[in-house]
Amino acid sequence: MGIPNFYLSQLTTNYDFGPSHPLRPERLRRAMRLLQAIHPTDVIEPAPASESDLQRVHSEEYVEAVKEISAAFERGEENSPRIGDLIGKHSLYGDTPAFRGIWETSAAYCGASMEAAYAVRDGAPLAFAIGGGLHHAHRNSASGFCVFDDPALAVSVLRERFDRVVYIDIDVHHGDGVQGIFLNDPNVLTYSIHESGKSLWPGTGYVEETGTAGTSTNMPVLARTSGPAWLDAFERTALPTMERFHPQALVLQMGTDPHFLDPLAHVNCDQASWLSAVRHCRDLGIPTVAVGGGGYSLHTVPRMWVSAILTLSRVEFDDAFPADLAAEWGVQTFSDAPETIPHGLGIEANEPIIRQYLEDVLPGVPAA
Ligand SMILES: [Zn+2]
Repeated sequence: MGIPNFYLSQLTTNYDFGPSHPLRPERLRRAMRLLQAIHPTDVIEPAPASESDLQRVHSEEYVEAVKEISAAFERGEENSPRIGDLIGKHSLYGDTPAFRGIWETSAAYCGASMEAAYAVRDGAPLAFAIGGGLHHAHRNSASGFCVFDDPALAVSVLRERFDRVVYIDIDVHHGDGVQGIFLNDPNVLTYSIHESGKSLWPGTGYVEETGTAGTSTNMPVLARTSGPAWLDAFERTALPTMERFHPQALVLQMGTDPHFLDPLAHVNCDQASWLSAVRHCRDLGIPTVAVGGGGYSLHTVPRMWVSAILTLSRVEFDDAFPADLAAEWGVQTFSDAPETIPHGLGIEANEPIIRQYLEDVLPGVPAA
């Protein structure tokens, strides 16, 4: 009951880089408490992704390395020279450090996104895997809190049935991992709207990055872009791109970090503008796998994800939070209190980038 096709492994909350890391499992726990309070939902525990599953988008060498590193942690041998070499080679350090259970928990969130994609491949109109959306992982290495690239896995599953699959990424960071995996693939269009690489990691996602088939599309916005201006940029670039490419299925990455309260980025988007983009994705009217993504404020992630889940599912909900959670978390409503929304750059600030997109990128998108 509740939201159908809702996949989330209990192991996902053990995907944890430690107490001082911004990717806190508490984000997911709170989102689930909020969803269950408003719209009780049966959560489906997925099977973990297998080694061969992961090799759909990752190198065998990398998959084996993560498994070997994880086993070494279990034996207390993670400081051996061999493991040190593997960690270095595949970038499992810095902001994405190897940890005990890295294999099991990473296979778990990938399994959820794949099972959601199998449900859609097999006829469901909509499926969720909010523990996924880890869009920075590359074919041969970890990056940006992401060990494996579950959105890319979901795309690969949808491609078993659909000729033209679109990946839409509204996270404030460029979806560089997914873009890289499908860069020159004429059947998979990636669209990412994000804060410009001039001011935000990973420093990529420029308009020029179109790939050889014209199916890699990017709308970088400036730091301090306001919610209405962010939405304007999305509507004027994403929507004509979809009209032209005419996708048959969608993987939607729902990073909530464009929000003005997010501590890791500098876009001033508000919940309502962000949710309008989600609504546009719903109104494409195509089979959809919705995954999670970034978002590092406990004040914003639960209410943005749950409002997106309910909106995609066409479930009406009150703006007011359940009283007990409002008292416990100090959050009163799904939407932002108007007086808290900061001013930001208006629509005209991103006009040159939007024009460049419309003149240089859109005409190169293959038309169906
Ligand atoms: Zn992000």
